Amino acid sequence: MKKYWFTLYPDTFLWSKGEKGFVYNALNNLSYLFSISGRVEELCKELQALENLYSTCISEEDMMDISVQQFIKTVVGLNGGCLSGDPQKPVSLKPVLKVQEGQHFIRKHHYGWYEIGNEIKHYLHQLTFYTNSSSYGNDTWYRQAFFPLKGCGQLNMEKLLTFSRYSRNPNLHHVNLVGNIFTYPEYQRLLEGLKELNIPHTVHITLPDFLQNLKQVNDPHMRFNILIDALPDELVSLKDIPAEINVQALVFSETNFHLLAEKFENMPVYCDAQLTPIYNGENIKFFESFVFTERKEIETIALNKREIFMRQALNVHHFGKFTVMPNGVVYADVNSKPLGTIDDTVHSLIYKEFTEGRSWFYVRDQPPCDDCLYQWLCSSPSNYETIIGKPNLCHVSND
Ligand code: SF4
Repeated sequence: MKKYWFTLYPDTFLWSKGEKGFVYNALNNLSYLFSISGRVEELCKELQALENLYSTCISEEDMMDISVQQFIKTVVGLNGGCLSGDPQKPVSLKPVLKVQEGQHFIRKHHYGWYEIGNEIKHYLHQLTFYTNSSSYGNDTWYRQAFFPLKGCGQLNMEKLLTFSRYSRNPNLHHVNLVGNIFTYPEYQRLLEGLKELNIPHTVHITLPDFLQNLKQVNDPHMRFNILIDALPDELVSLKDIPAEINVQALVFSETNFHLLAEKFENMPVYCDAQLTPIYNGENIKFFESFVFTERKEIETIALNKREIFMRQALNVHHFGKFTVMPNGVVYADVNSKPLGTIDDTVHSLIYKEFTEGRSWFYVRDQPPCDDCLYQWLCSSPSNYETIIGKPNLCHVSND
Protein backbone atom coordinates (compact mmCIF):
# COMPACT_ATOMS: atom_id res chain seq x y z
CA MET A 1 0.00 0.00 0.00
CA LYS A 2 1.48 3.33 -1.02
CA LYS A 3 2.33 5.84 1.69
CA TYR A 4 2.98 9.55 1.55
CA TRP A 5 4.57 12.12 3.83
CA PHE A 6 2.78 15.30 4.67
CA THR A 7 5.28 17.90 5.91
CA LEU A 8 4.80 21.42 7.21
CA TYR A 9 7.44 24.02 6.34
CA PRO A 10 9.55 25.66 9.10
CA ASP A 11 7.75 29.00 8.77
CA THR A 12 4.31 27.44 9.13
CA PHE A 13 2.65 27.52 12.54
CA LEU A 14 -0.02 24.99 13.48
CA TRP A 15 -2.06 25.82 16.56
CA SER A 16 -5.04 23.92 17.94
CA LYS A 17 -7.48 24.69 20.73
CA GLY A 18 -10.41 22.43 21.45
CA GLU A 19 -12.16 21.54 18.21
CA LYS A 20 -10.51 24.21 16.08
CA GLY A 21 -7.17 24.36 14.36
CA PHE A 22 -5.31 27.22 12.68
CA VAL A 23 -2.47 27.12 10.21
CA TYR A 24 -0.47 30.32 9.66
CA ASN A 25 2.24 30.70 7.05
CA ALA A 26 4.58 33.38 8.41
CA LEU A 27 6.26 33.80 5.01
CA ASN A 28 3.20 34.86 3.03
CA ASN A 29 0.77 35.49 5.93
CA LEU A 30 -1.89 33.19 4.51
CA SER A 31 -3.91 31.24 7.04
CA TYR A 32 -6.49 28.49 7.36
CA LEU A 33 -9.03 27.99 10.14
CA PHE A 34 -10.46 24.48 10.27
CA SER A 35 -12.42 22.05 12.43
CA ILE A 36 -10.47 19.34 14.16
CA SER A 37 -11.99 15.92 14.35
CA GLY A 38 -11.37 12.33 13.31
CA ARG A 39 -8.21 11.66 11.34
CA VAL A 40 -7.40 15.38 10.95
CA GLU A 41 -7.12 15.62 14.73
CA GLU A 42 -4.64 12.72 14.78
CA LEU A 43 -2.61 14.25 11.95
CA CYS A 44 -2.39 17.55 13.81
CA LYS A 45 -1.19 15.80 16.96
CA GLU A 46 1.46 13.93 14.97
CA LEU A 47 2.62 17.13 13.27
CA GLN A 48 2.81 18.96 16.58
CA ALA A 49 4.94 16.28 18.29
CA LEU A 50 8.52 17.61 18.12
CA GLU A 51 10.06 14.20 17.55
CA ASN A 52 8.13 13.79 14.27
CA LEU A 53 10.12 16.59 12.65
CA TYR A 54 6.98 18.31 11.37
CA SER A 55 6.05 15.36 9.11
CA THR A 56 3.34 12.74 9.30
CA CYS A 57 2.64 9.60 7.34
CA ILE A 58 -0.46 9.59 5.12
CA SER A 59 -1.91 6.29 3.94
CA GLU A 60 -4.01 5.67 0.84
CA GLU A 61 -6.95 5.22 3.17
CA ASP A 62 -6.27 8.69 4.63
CA MET A 63 -6.25 10.07 1.12
CA MET A 64 -9.84 8.88 0.67
CA ASP A 65 -10.99 10.85 3.73
CA ILE A 66 -12.67 14.06 2.52
CA SER A 67 -11.66 16.12 5.56
CA VAL A 68 -8.01 14.94 5.28
CA GLN A 69 -8.03 15.80 1.55
CA GLN A 70 -9.43 19.24 2.30
CA PHE A 71 -6.86 19.84 5.08
CA ILE A 72 -3.86 18.83 2.98
CA LYS A 73 -5.08 20.60 -0.16
CA THR A 74 -5.64 23.88 1.68
CA VAL A 75 -2.33 23.83 3.57
CA VAL A 76 -0.42 23.01 0.37
CA GLY A 77 -2.43 25.77 -1.39
CA LEU A 78 -1.20 28.38 1.05
CA ASN A 79 2.36 27.14 0.63
CA GLY A 80 2.44 25.93 4.21
CA GLY A 81 3.57 22.39 3.51
CA CYS A 82 3.88 19.64 0.93
CA LEU A 83 2.87 16.07 0.20
CA SER A 84 5.62 13.76 -1.04
CA GLY A 85 5.97 10.14 -1.97
CA ASP A 86 9.64 9.87 -0.90
CA PRO A 87 10.57 6.64 0.83
CA GLN A 88 12.65 8.70 3.32
CA LYS A 89 10.87 10.77 5.91
CA PRO A 90 11.40 14.47 5.08
CA VAL A 91 12.93 16.65 7.79
CA SER A 92 11.46 19.99 8.68
CA LEU A 93 11.85 22.06 11.85
CA LYS A 94 8.75 23.02 13.76
CA PRO A 95 8.94 26.72 14.68
CA VAL A 96 9.57 26.64 18.43
CA LEU A 97 10.83 29.53 20.50
CA LYS A 98 14.17 28.82 22.14
CA VAL A 99 14.74 31.12 25.08
CA GLN A 100 18.44 31.63 25.67
CA GLU A 101 18.81 34.70 27.86
CA GLY A 102 15.14 35.06 28.67
CA GLN A 103 13.55 35.71 32.02
CA HIS A 104 13.60 32.06 33.13
CA PHE A 105 17.23 31.60 32.15
CA ILE A 106 18.37 34.65 34.11
CA ARG A 107 16.25 33.65 37.12
CA LYS A 108 17.69 30.17 37.09
CA HIS A 109 21.33 30.83 36.42
CA HIS A 110 22.19 34.12 37.99
CA TYR A 111 22.27 35.44 41.51
CA GLY A 112 22.74 39.08 40.62
CA TRP A 113 23.24 41.29 37.58
CA TYR A 114 27.02 41.31 38.15
CA GLU A 115 27.13 37.67 37.05
CA ILE A 116 25.67 38.68 33.71
CA GLY A 117 27.90 41.72 33.47
CA ASN A 118 27.54 44.95 31.59
CA GLU A 119 25.73 43.10 28.79
CA ILE A 120 22.50 43.30 30.77
CA LYS A 121 22.29 46.95 29.74
CA HIS A 122 21.79 45.89 26.16
CA TYR A 123 18.17 45.02 26.96
CA LEU A 124 17.40 48.70 27.49
CA HIS A 125 16.10 50.35 24.30
CA GLN A 126 14.22 53.44 25.37
CA LEU A 127 14.12 55.87 28.29
CA THR A 128 11.30 58.27 29.10
CA PHE A 129 11.79 61.09 31.59
CA TYR A 130 8.87 63.08 32.97
CA THR A 131 10.89 66.23 33.52
CA ASN A 132 8.41 68.70 35.04
CA SER A 133 4.75 69.74 35.07
CA SER A 134 2.64 71.80 32.72
CA SER A 135 -0.40 73.90 33.56
CA TYR A 136 -2.01 72.21 30.53
CA GLY A 137 -1.04 68.77 31.76
CA ASN A 138 -3.20 65.99 33.13
CA ASP A 139 -2.48 63.60 35.95
CA THR A 140 -4.06 60.51 34.38
CA TRP A 141 -3.43 60.45 30.60
CA TYR A 142 0.24 59.54 31.15
CA ARG A 143 -0.90 56.04 32.06
CA GLN A 144 -1.99 55.48 28.43
CA ALA A 145 0.18 57.82 26.34
CA PHE A 146 2.98 60.36 26.68
CA PHE A 147 1.37 63.42 28.25
CA PRO A 148 2.76 65.98 30.71
CA LEU A 149 1.59 65.87 34.31
CA LYS A 150 -0.19 68.81 35.84
CA GLY A 151 0.84 68.74 39.44
CA CYS A 152 4.26 67.27 40.00
CA GLY A 153 7.77 68.18 41.02
CA GLN A 154 10.80 68.43 38.85
CA LEU A 155 13.30 65.77 37.91
CA ASN A 156 16.87 66.57 38.86
CA MET A 157 18.79 67.29 35.65
CA GLU A 158 22.16 65.99 36.81
CA LYS A 159 20.56 62.72 37.84
CA LEU A 160 18.70 62.51 34.52
CA LEU A 161 21.93 62.92 32.56
CA THR A 162 23.87 60.53 34.78
CA PHE A 163 21.17 57.88 34.44
CA SER A 164 21.19 58.35 30.65
CA ARG A 165 24.97 58.11 30.57
CA TYR A 166 24.99 54.83 32.51
CA SER A 167 22.14 53.49 30.35
CA ARG A 168 24.05 54.02 27.12
CA ASN A 169 24.39 50.86 25.04
CA PRO A 170 24.23 50.04 21.32
CA ASN A 171 20.50 49.29 21.57
CA LEU A 172 19.43 52.44 23.42
CA HIS A 173 17.90 54.26 20.49
CA HIS A 174 15.72 56.95 22.03
CA VAL A 175 15.05 59.23 24.97
CA ASN A 176 11.67 60.91 25.51
CA LEU A 177 11.37 64.11 27.54
CA VAL A 178 7.81 64.77 28.70
CA GLY A 179 6.75 68.03 30.36
CA ASN A 180 7.09 71.70 29.56
CA ILE A 181 10.72 71.79 28.51
CA PHE A 182 10.69 75.58 28.28
CA THR A 183 10.02 76.02 31.99
CA TYR A 184 12.58 73.38 32.98
CA PRO A 185 15.57 75.22 34.50
CA GLU A 186 18.62 75.17 32.24
CA TYR A 187 16.83 73.09 29.64
CA GLN A 188 19.45 74.05 27.05
CA ARG A 189 22.06 72.36 29.21
CA LEU A 190 19.89 69.23 29.37
CA LEU A 191 19.53 69.14 25.59
CA GLU A 192 23.24 69.74 25.12
CA GLY A 193 23.98 66.92 27.56
CA LEU A 194 21.79 64.47 25.61
CA LYS A 195 23.42 65.59 22.36
CA GLU A 196 26.85 64.91 23.84
CA LEU A 197 25.71 61.44 24.80
CA ASN A 198 24.62 61.02 21.19
CA ILE A 199 21.17 59.68 22.10
CA PRO A 200 18.35 60.81 19.78
CA HIS A 201 15.57 62.45 21.79
CA THR A 202 12.06 63.79 21.39
CA VAL A 203 10.36 66.47 23.46
CA HIS A 204 6.70 65.71 24.16
CA ILE A 205 4.87 68.94 24.92
CA THR A 206 1.29 70.25 24.88
CA LEU A 207 0.23 72.49 21.99
CA PRO A 208 -0.38 75.57 24.21
CA ASP A 209 3.04 75.23 25.91
CA PHE A 210 4.69 74.88 22.51
CA LEU A 211 2.90 77.88 21.00
CA GLN A 212 3.68 80.07 24.00
CA ASN A 213 7.38 79.39 23.52
CA LEU A 214 7.63 79.43 19.74
CA LYS A 215 10.40 82.05 19.77
CA GLN A 216 12.67 79.63 21.57
CA VAL A 217 12.30 76.95 18.91
CA ASN A 218 15.24 77.45 16.58
CA ASP A 219 17.05 74.15 16.13
CA PRO A 220 16.03 72.30 12.94
CA HIS A 221 17.34 69.06 14.49
CA MET A 222 15.10 69.25 17.56
CA ARG A 223 12.23 66.79 17.53
CA PHE A 224 8.90 67.80 19.08
CA ASN A 225 5.82 65.67 19.56
CA ILE A 226 3.02 68.21 20.02
CA LEU A 227 0.18 66.86 22.12
CA ILE A 228 -3.45 67.88 21.81
CA ASP A 229 -6.07 66.70 24.27
CA ALA A 230 -8.76 69.33 23.60
CA LEU A 231 -10.00 70.69 20.32
CA PRO A 232 -8.27 74.06 19.85
CA ASP A 233 -10.50 77.02 18.78
CA GLU A 234 -7.99 77.99 16.18
CA LEU A 235 -5.08 76.10 14.73
CA VAL A 236 -1.81 77.93 14.25
CA SER A 237 0.23 76.62 11.33
CA LEU A 238 3.29 74.62 12.38
CA LYS A 239 4.61 74.34 8.87
CA ASP A 240 7.59 76.71 8.83
CA ILE A 241 8.83 76.16 12.33
CA PRO A 242 12.56 75.33 12.41
CA ALA A 243 12.25 71.93 14.12
CA GLU A 244 11.03 68.41 13.35
CA ILE A 245 7.36 68.41 14.27
CA ASN A 246 4.96 65.57 14.86
CA VAL A 247 1.41 65.99 16.17
CA GLN A 248 -0.39 63.51 18.40
CA ALA A 249 -4.04 64.07 19.29
CA LEU A 250 -5.75 62.24 22.13
CA VAL A 251 -9.20 61.03 21.10
CA PHE A 252 -12.04 60.33 23.51
CA SER A 253 -15.05 59.67 21.29
CA GLU A 254 -16.16 59.14 17.74
CA THR A 255 -17.49 62.72 17.59
CA ASN A 256 -14.17 63.98 18.92
CA PHE A 257 -12.39 61.93 16.25
CA HIS A 258 -14.48 63.41 13.39
CA LEU A 259 -14.16 66.99 14.67
CA LEU A 260 -10.38 66.64 14.93
CA ALA A 261 -10.08 65.04 11.51
CA GLU A 262 -12.19 67.86 10.00
CA LYS A 263 -10.18 70.56 11.74
CA PHE A 264 -6.85 69.04 10.70
CA GLU A 265 -7.93 68.30 7.15
CA ASN A 266 -6.12 71.03 5.23
CA MET A 267 -3.25 71.78 7.58
CA PRO A 268 0.09 70.17 6.83
CA VAL A 269 1.58 68.53 9.95
CA TYR A 270 -1.84 68.40 11.63
CA CYS A 271 -3.37 66.24 8.94
CA ASP A 272 -0.60 63.69 9.55
CA ALA A 273 -1.45 63.66 13.25
CA GLN A 274 -1.33 60.41 15.09
CA LEU A 275 -4.69 59.84 16.79
CA THR A 276 -4.44 58.06 20.15
CA PRO A 277 -7.62 56.79 21.86
CA ILE A 278 -7.75 57.51 25.59
CA TYR A 279 -10.04 55.75 28.04
CA ASN A 280 -11.63 58.25 30.43
CA GLY A 281 -13.86 55.90 32.40
CA GLU A 282 -16.98 56.85 30.42
CA ASN A 283 -16.15 55.97 26.83
CA ILE A 284 -16.07 52.17 26.82
CA LYS A 285 -18.53 52.16 23.86
CA PHE A 286 -16.01 54.17 21.82
CA PHE A 287 -13.33 51.65 22.73
CA GLU A 288 -15.60 48.74 21.85
CA SER A 289 -16.15 50.24 18.39
CA PHE A 290 -12.67 51.57 17.63
CA VAL A 291 -10.10 49.75 19.73
CA PHE A 292 -11.40 46.25 20.47
CA THR A 293 -9.96 43.55 18.20
CA GLU A 294 -12.33 42.31 15.47
CA ARG A 295 -12.03 39.09 13.51
CA LYS A 296 -11.41 40.97 10.25
CA GLU A 297 -8.30 42.54 11.85
CA ILE A 298 -6.96 39.10 12.77
CA GLU A 299 -7.29 38.14 9.12
CA THR A 300 -5.04 41.03 8.08
CA ILE A 301 -2.28 40.43 10.65
CA ALA A 302 1.03 39.98 8.83
CA LEU A 303 3.83 38.73 11.09
CA ASN A 304 7.02 36.89 10.34
CA LYS A 305 8.34 34.04 12.46
CA ARG A 306 10.54 36.31 14.58
CA GLU A 307 7.65 38.64 15.34
CA ILE A 308 5.51 35.70 16.47
CA PHE A 309 8.34 34.47 18.72
CA MET A 310 8.60 37.97 20.20
CA ARG A 311 4.92 37.88 21.17
CA GLN A 312 5.49 34.52 22.83
CA ALA A 313 8.45 35.75 24.86
CA LEU A 314 7.93 39.39 25.75
CA ASN A 315 5.58 42.31 25.84
CA VAL A 316 6.09 44.22 22.60
CA HIS A 317 4.80 47.48 24.13
CA HIS A 318 6.92 47.53 27.28
CA PHE A 319 10.03 45.43 26.71
CA GLY A 320 13.30 47.35 26.97
CA LYS A 321 11.70 50.55 28.25
CA PHE A 322 12.03 52.48 31.50
CA THR A 323 10.04 55.52 32.58
CA VAL A 324 11.37 57.91 35.22
CA MET A 325 8.86 60.17 36.97
CA PRO A 326 9.66 63.71 38.28
CA ASN A 327 10.23 62.30 41.78
CA GLY A 328 12.90 59.97 40.38
CA VAL A 329 10.87 56.76 40.67
CA VAL A 330 11.58 54.27 37.86
CA TYR A 331 8.96 52.02 36.22
CA ALA A 332 9.17 49.30 33.58
CA ASP A 333 5.69 50.53 32.70
CA VAL A 334 3.84 53.26 34.53
CA ASN A 335 0.93 50.99 35.46
CA SER A 336 3.10 48.49 37.29
CA LYS A 337 4.88 48.64 40.65
CA PRO A 338 7.98 50.84 40.71
CA LEU A 339 11.30 49.08 40.19
CA GLY A 340 13.36 51.54 42.18
CA THR A 341 14.67 55.06 41.74
CA ILE A 342 17.00 56.98 39.48
CA ASP A 343 19.64 56.60 42.22
CA ASP A 344 19.76 52.83 41.69
CA THR A 345 22.08 51.38 39.08
CA VAL A 346 20.59 50.77 35.65
CA HIS A 347 21.89 47.20 35.84
CA SER A 348 20.10 46.45 39.11
CA LEU A 349 16.82 47.89 37.78
CA ILE A 350 16.98 45.75 34.64
CA TYR A 351 17.86 42.69 36.70
CA LYS A 352 14.91 43.39 39.01
CA GLU A 353 12.50 43.56 36.06
CA PHE A 354 13.91 40.27 34.75
CA THR A 355 13.64 38.50 38.06
CA GLU A 356 10.63 40.09 39.80
CA GLY A 357 8.85 42.26 37.24
CA ARG A 358 5.94 41.40 35.03
CA SER A 359 5.77 44.27 32.55
CA TRP A 360 8.50 43.29 30.08
CA PHE A 361 7.27 39.69 30.03
CA TYR A 362 3.52 40.25 30.20
CA VAL A 363 2.27 38.06 27.33
CA ARG A 364 -1.09 36.58 26.39
CA ASP A 365 -0.62 33.48 28.51
CA GLN A 366 -3.62 33.99 30.77
CA PRO A 367 -7.36 33.34 30.28
CA PRO A 368 -9.15 33.89 28.02
CA CYS A 369 -6.34 34.46 25.47
CA ASP A 370 -4.49 31.27 26.45
CA ASP A 371 -7.42 29.35 25.02
CA CYS A 372 -7.56 31.29 21.76
CA LEU A 373 -6.12 30.23 18.42
CA TYR A 374 -4.84 33.75 17.79
CA GLN A 375 -2.97 33.96 21.11
CA TRP A 376 0.42 34.61 19.46
CA LEU A 377 -0.82 36.69 16.55
CA CYS A 378 -2.48 39.35 18.69
CA SER A 379 -0.33 42.14 20.00
CA SER A 380 0.76 41.89 23.65
CA PRO A 381 -1.53 43.24 26.38
CA SER A 382 -1.28 47.02 26.48
CA ASN A 383 -1.86 49.78 29.00
CA TYR A 384 -5.46 49.96 27.79
CA GLU A 385 -6.20 46.50 29.19
CA THR A 386 -4.71 47.52 32.55
CA ILE A 387 -6.61 50.81 32.74
CA ILE A 388 -9.93 49.30 31.63
CA GLY A 389 -9.35 46.32 33.90
CA LYS A 390 -9.90 43.56 31.33
CA PRO A 391 -7.49 40.81 30.26
CA ASN A 392 -8.23 41.57 26.61
CA LEU A 393 -10.11 44.06 24.48
CA CYS A 394 -11.67 41.77 22.00
CA HIS A 395 -14.82 40.84 20.06
CA VAL A 396 -13.30 37.67 18.59
CA SER A 397 -14.67 34.28 19.44
CA ASN A 398 -13.11 31.05 18.20
CA ASP A 399 -16.45 29.56 17.12
S1 SF4 B 1 -9.09 36.32 22.85
FE1 SF4 B 1 -7.09 37.26 23.14
S2 SF4 B 1 -5.75 36.21 21.71
FE2 SF4 B 1 -7.85 35.80 21.05
S3 SF4 B 1 -8.29 37.32 19.53
FE3 SF4 B 1 -8.99 38.12 21.50
S4 SF4 B 1 -7.27 39.32 22.29
FE4 SF4 B 1 -6.49 38.02 20.65
